[in-house]
Amino acid sequence: MSAPMSAEDEAVSICRDLMRFDTSNYGDDRGPGERLAAEYAAGLLTEVGLDVELIEPRPGRTTVMARWPGADPERPGLLVHAHTDVVPAEPALWRHHPFGGEIADGCLWGRGAVDMKYFAAQMLAVVRARMRAGRPPARDVVLAFVADEENGGRLGARWLVDNRPELFEGCTEAIGEVGGFSATLPNGRRLYLVETAEKGVIWFRVTTKGIAGHGSMLNSSNAIAQLGEIMHRVGEHRFPVQLTPTTRQFIDALSAELDEQFHPDDPDALLKAISPLERIVGASLQNIASPTLISAGNKTNVIPSLASAELDCRFLPGHEDEFIASFVALVGPNATCEIFYRDIAVETDFPTPLTHAMAASVARHDPGAGVIPYLLPAGTDAKHFSRLGIACYGFAPLKLPADFDFPAAFHGVDERVPVDALRFGVPVLDDFFDRC
Ligand SMILES: [Zn+2]
Repeated sequence: MSAPMSAEDEAVSICRDLMRFDTSNYGDDRGPGERLAAEYAAGLLTEVGLDVELIEPRPGRTTVMARWPGADPERPGLLVHAHTDVVPAEPALWRHHPFGGEIADGCLWGRGAVDMKYFAAQMLAVVRARMRAGRPPARDVVLAFVADEENGGRLGARWLVDNRPELFEGCTEAIGEVGGFSATLPNGRRLYLVETAEKGVIWFRVTTKGIAGHGSMLNSSNAIAQLGEIMHRVGEHRFPVQLTPTTRQFIDALSAELDEQFHPDDPDALLKAISPLERIVGASLQNIASPTLISAGNKTNVIPSLASAELDCRFLPGHEDEFIASFVALVGPNATCEIFYRDIAVETDFPTPLTHAMAASVARHDPGAGVIPYLLPAGTDAKHFSRLGIACYGFAPLKLPADFDFPAAFHGVDERVPVDALRFGVPVLDDFFDRC
């Protein structure tokens, strides 16, 4: 009989297997779905004695749920969740096939490497090791490997919360993406960023109305020209820096670490200190409105009467109404604004006993490292779970090389995760289950 694999080795092996299931989510039912990945995860859990439930709101769009009994059943439960779908990838653009699960240059390459099959793999490896050893978590843990995160959770977390809330009964807190990854400061100190807040989402459609007519003639009211002017104004606009409890703590912590007072109104020095995370951190300090889609006209010699644009807007927790008012004012009176999609912003407390447990688990395996809260400028399934009153944290541990461009890996070409970073998170997560 061969010796059982270490949990670290198994996490790498499981991650490679998961990445070889193409679970591309195109935002409709064109994709292959999550079923094969879900059946694989379910098999790994049942093999070590856990009961699982496979849930399919639509054929092929599969979520796996399991309850892992804790040492103290009197305590409330902890939800640990990972999504198994990924955004599509074009293999021709990649150095290694996005669904090959290849290891090269110290990294595991492919879709889902950081978003977020690595955490599903860490979860599975740690749960399996502890089940084999008879080591329950400190309290009940609900494990969720969910479908459809990349399309707003309509067939995943959002659906589960709306239709099967009993699956999460008793859970008061949750961990998932996007947090627990390290940043190395200019002074060499490593901090792990725990996500405690997420921006909300508003998608606006802005429409201008002009006078239709022949392209060869004078026209005093061209809808496209009007829309262009408005989109230029909105696209170039910088909303003011506004701090939430999370970003205030983030800046204070960084100021203390580096013995330098960062001024939120002039974030450049702060962003330089936190490179290569400046894209995430910069966007966490202000509302953002990005024009992303424009449509007007159907023939070159016809001036259309209408032109419209869509904008992806992200607002800070606590600033939704104020953002809408300032956006509409910025667009001005010559266009109509319509909201066609929106989702909430969330923010949870820091520090709490659970974040102390995260800090202790990280410090045990990376002595001297600290933990700080940060605000994710995008959205995750945490938004849906938070509707059940669950306090959600991004904590999926990775110890990254100082120069690793983590934000670029998300939805990017050549997405990859350093193998050692993935391995590091395994004993951290294991330790966390003792302290949680
Ligand atoms: Zn993700």
